[in-house]
Amino acid sequence: MEREFQFYVVPTPIGNLDDITLRAIDILKKVDIIACEDTRTSQNLLNHYNIHTKTVAYHKFNEKSKVEEFITLLKQGKKIALVSDAGTPMICDPGSILIKELINNNIKITALSGACAIPTFLSQVPRENELFTFVGFFPKTKQKAQELITEYSKSNLVFYESPNRIIDTLNLIKETRGNIQIALGRELTKLFEEIVIDNIENVITHFEQRIKGEIVCMIYASTESNIDLTTKIKQLKSKGFKSKEIATILSTLYDTNKNDIYKLTME
Ligand code: SAM
Repeated sequence: MEREFQFYVVPTPIGNLDDITLRAIDILKKVDIIACEDTRTSQNLLNHYNIHTKTVAYHKFNEKSKVEEFITLLKQGKKIALVSDAGTPMICDPGSILIKELINNNIKITALSGACAIPTFLSQVPRENELFTFVGFFPKTKQKAQELITEYSKSNLVFYESPNRIIDTLNLIKETRGNIQIALGRELTKLFEEIVIDNIENVITHFEQRIKGEIVCMIYASTESNIDLTTKIKQLKSKGFKSKEIATILSTLYDTNKNDIYKLTME
């Protein structure tokens, strides 16, 4: 009979320690090794649940070198679980190289469902349409960021961002798409959890130019009703475009009536 190698991907809480499943606790107790992004971070959770399994560091700096070791151990019959510092492994966290090699070696992967910042955020943010695009961490260069914001303007664009950069990012979004509607989730499942849904200027005012904690953000998809056409017209005028050209560009980009935009350019 073929031996079944056992490897588990186990989500852990993104803040509230109670957000772990019974199955996750059971598996973390029964495996031989827990591969952790940071063993000290995971140890807090393991202590909380009286889990005494051996931990091994597995992070982006030793990802490649650990793969062979884990595969050898799995083939020897050891059971391994992969966890990240918080949430679901592989969602902006290490794991991809390892999972690819496990698949190449025909090693069965069992992924548990569990905590992740994206669904926790999206499940409390109303949206007109289901379409969303998750792009991981927001790009760091202005050009890449602007390309992304423009390319995905018709989808709800969800991204992770650090508290140090978020105000600059919001200003950049405003510069590119106008003062549009966004949703921002902060410190989800934690004591100071907060969801703010408003236009960019009001969100920045709400936080008084300063935001702390962990953040997920969503730029609402463009619809006729939420595009800030006045700002767009001003931007295009400042670049020397004529009213007729502006009407053609904006009506094509946002499926709006060309004559209505032309009239707006005259105001
Ligand atoms: N694997 C994680 C997951 O499943 O969500 C994401 C890991 S990524 C390295 C860390 C980023 O996720 C943070 O910088 C923040 O943008 C987002 N995040 C994690 N926990 C969060 C929370 N409690 N509230 C809001 N955002 C969170």
